Amino acid sequence: MNTDHNIYIHVPFCVAKCRYCAFFSHACANPDWEKYENNIISEINFWEKMLGKICVPTIFFGGGTPSLMPVKTFDKIITTIKNKFNIYENCEITLEANPGTLDKQTLTDFHNAGANRLSIGIQSFDDEKLKLLGRIHNSAQAINLLDNANKLNLRVSADFIYGLPNETVSDVIKTCKKINEIGLKHCSMYELTIEPSTPFGKMNLHMPSNEEMANMYIAIKDTLDLARYEVSNYAIHGEECRHNQNIWDGEPYIGVGQGAAGRIFMNNTWYEQKGANEKFEKISNSERAIEKLITGLRQVRGVIIDTDIKDIINQDFITKHPDLLHMIENNRLATTEKGMLLLDDLLLNLVK
Ligand code: SF4
Repeated sequence: MNTDHNIYIHVPFCVAKCRYCAFFSHACANPDWEKYENNIISEINFWEKMLGKICVPTIFFGGGTPSLMPVKTFDKIITTIKNKFNIYENCEITLEANPGTLDKQTLTDFHNAGANRLSIGIQSFDDEKLKLLGRIHNSAQAINLLDNANKLNLRVSADFIYGLPNETVSDVIKTCKKINEIGLKHCSMYELTIEPSTPFGKMNLHMPSNEEMANMYIAIKDTLDLARYEVSNYAIHGEECRHNQNIWDGEPYIGVGQGAAGRIFMNNTWYEQKGANEKFEKISNSERAIEKLITGLRQVRGVIIDTDIKDIINQDFITKHPDLLHMIENNRLATTEKGMLLLDDLLLNLVK
């Protein structure tokens, strides 16, 4: 029987490079979409030969800026996946989008071609901060895209960055109140990290202290009307991102496109994979179990304790620290609120 694999498709192009961004993407005014499409389709064909007619629970177009892609390209990729694999009837198909790259008609066309979830990079409601970040859009464009997505009944998420230069806890509370006001059902709140290779890394920025950052994190949970379900993700029940949940739970996934990472499960063996031929290496069950533990414990619902994880964890540590970890329903081990805050240290002690 073929194992289910989720599919991540990387779109590496952006209109302009944001000042904080260290993702694999490049500014390109006019990408060769035909070449991109052909490469993606040949990778999908390759995986069909490797894995057979697998079932696909979720597809996620991430970037870069997937909303720059012509709908024709998106349509051909989805059609190829449908022809080669068995996609779930309720398959979640997410498109990452940047405000300012997607008008109402194009969004409708993406929806008609199969996209049923939109993840919008809003980052901030403050136009000055958007300029500082090097974003190409303003707040009004973001609200407009949200409105259009809501009119189409798409499931919608939005990404925000907190801990910007000179930002205060009350600024972050203001952002959260605005999120409540517009009625978002899912959002991701990422702390700004300064990567040395980026323009931000070379600027002398006045960043909030670690203590202020920690207070912002607490204020987000306290202010949002949404429940935190992973370290950086908040949703009303039922609106969680299924693609990410599957991956955090340790399900197999294929990374399609240059630089896209995956974890393939084939003939009872795990493989670390990147793109079509950048990397394909066997990983042991214990290495994979550590990965599952790291991503699983970032979820409020915790990690499923399968036999591989059982083999690597220190049961004694769990028994002795009920203030940090506890078993919950469906054979999952979860952190307490305190454990979540001490996750890195906790993982060091939890693995035998
Ligand atoms: S749009 Fe996203 S991927 Fe592109 S440069 Fe900005 S942060 Fe990076």
